[in-house]
Amino acid sequence: MRPLLFLCLVAFVATAGPDAPEDVKHPRSPESPLTVVFTPWYCTQCVKEERCEARDGPFSVMHMDLMDFAKHCDLDKKWLYIETKNFKIVSTLGKSKIKFKHNRYARGDIERLKTIFPKLKPGRDGILLNAHQRAHLYHIRAERVYGHFAALTDNKKPWLGMQGHYQLFLLDDFNEYHTFADDFVGRAQKLAGVQQHVKEKPNFNMFATSEQQVSRTKGKGDSTMQNWFVHNLTHLFIDGYNNYYRETWAWLEEGLAHYYEKMENPRHNTFCFAEGAPPKSFLKPDWRPIIYGLVRRGKDPGLARWCEKLQPGELSGTENGMTWSIVEWLVETEPVRFTKLLNELNDYKAKQNASQCIQKAFGVTPSVLHERWRKYVLDTYK
Ligand SMILES: [Zn+2]
Ligand SMILES: [Zn+2]
Repeated sequence: MRPLLFLCLVAFVATAGPDAPEDVKHPRSPESPLTVVFTPWYCTQCVKEERCEARDGPFSVMHMDLMDFAKHCDLDKKWLYIETKNFKIVSTLGKSKIKFKHNRYARGDIERLKTIFPKLKPGRDGILLNAHQRAHLYHIRAERVYGHFAALTDNKKPWLGMQGHYQLFLLDDFNEYHTFADDFVGRAQKLAGVQQHVKEKPNFNMFATSEQQVSRTKGKGDSTMQNWFVHNLTHLFIDGYNNYYRETWAWLEEGLAHYYEKMENPRHNTFCFAEGAPPKSFLKPDWRPIIYGLVRRGKDPGLARWCEKLQPGELSGTENGMTWSIVEWLVETEPVRFTKLLNELNDYKAKQNASQCIQKAFGVTPSVLHERWRKYVLDTYK
């Protein structure tokens, strides 16, 4: 296959300054902006509009020729395909209003989007994007969150070390998604989304969703869709990290997904199907007072008791909510040790349990780690 030809090689760095909108920061250097690299890209619609150069295929998703795939899934005739450094994205999403107040990085992302669509004119509160522009907003969001996770873990390998692109199927219509889930995954048809990773050849790591179903089950509008997207994207990253395609402990996997999601927007709080019903005690957007109350009253179950569990459904609602706080504390105060913890985890080879990995990365038992976290909560959440 010919190398990617690209229109634009500029990496966008948010402009600093007192009046600049808040934008994404480097996870290992919180005072510095993170350079978000979302070029080069190839897009079937951009080729028609001369925003990127054509290139020879063949293009494939799920090990199927792209055109055959679109026909097989009866995709809306306006479907488009975007290929970036780390993602293959098939989108049939429709137009949507993007409201700045609903996402911490929305203004920065729209500035980045303007490098693809220079005529975009955002209003004071937001902007209405057409289907093509919105698909690229998701392309930018995906590479931004990827860039943050890669910088956090200092992982410079292509696709975080996997054998190929992460694949995202952002479908509008429930029937398109249903056909996809039936034929390529074989489960989860009624859910708002499904992730699947397979390490053995033909390998893949994908997430598919239907916005119609997200609207019905999670809430309407782009900001709900985005939280859902970011939560699931994080699951793909940790599953594919270093090509392990692992079954990560529930506290780490869900904690990281909640962490990334709440960093974007604390408003929606996705709880995956696997986590069960959202815990009633964690329905408010700000979880800090809830967690502070639990710790102050000594009602926080000790991490040592639940750190080995693999399925989020095995955790109680309180434990599922606590995962966010523990992971946020580890990522933001000990990013290097947090990375060591991830690097220790290889369920294909070493098969170490969570206690062993915590001991190697942090030099303490899960009980001691939990006590340190409690102290942090009592000192900083008040
Ligand atoms: Zn395009
Ligand atoms: Zn989840």
